[in-house]
Amino acid sequence: MYNFLQPKIFRYCKRCGFSPDNGKKGGSCNFCNIPFSEYELQNSQEEIDSWSFEEYNNARNEIIENIIKKSPEYSQEAYDSRKIKQKKIMKEVFKNSKPKVTCPYCHSNNTGKITGGSIVSNEFFGIFSKGIGKQWHCYNCNSDF
Ligand SMILES: [Zn+2]
Ligand SMILES: [Zn+2]
Repeated sequence: MYNFLQPKIFRYCKRCGFSPDNGKKGGSCNFCNIPFSEYELQNSQEEIDSWSFEEYNNARNEIIENIIKKSPEYSQEAYDSRKIKQKKIMKEVFKNSKPKVTCPYCHSNNTGKITGGSIVSNEFFGIFSKGIGKQWHCYNCNSDF
């Protein structure tokens, strides 16, 4: 069971491709400071809700790869530097990551404790879970639990 919000309309940054799937509207890219654009998936919300997190992520990544990255406003440089910044923030947020626990979704041990709270993870990693008070993050499947 996946407990993620999988919105039909997702936000993305047309410059760096950042796409936080936390179901919010509006706002600006945390990295480029330009307003988010929106993309609407062609599938019905019922269909989207029946997808696993991986399936949803794949559908979104496909759009980022095939449409957003081909737009003239897209900057590979902005994308690369955003990825590096994200990695740094992730390290910072999850640095007190012992002891290790196993992810209940994919059984990976590649997990870390969320010390910065889920608000930080929402904004910077595009991660969202409906449950409040999640303490662990899985780097493998991007779940919070
Ligand atoms: Zn951006
Ligand atoms: Zn996992």
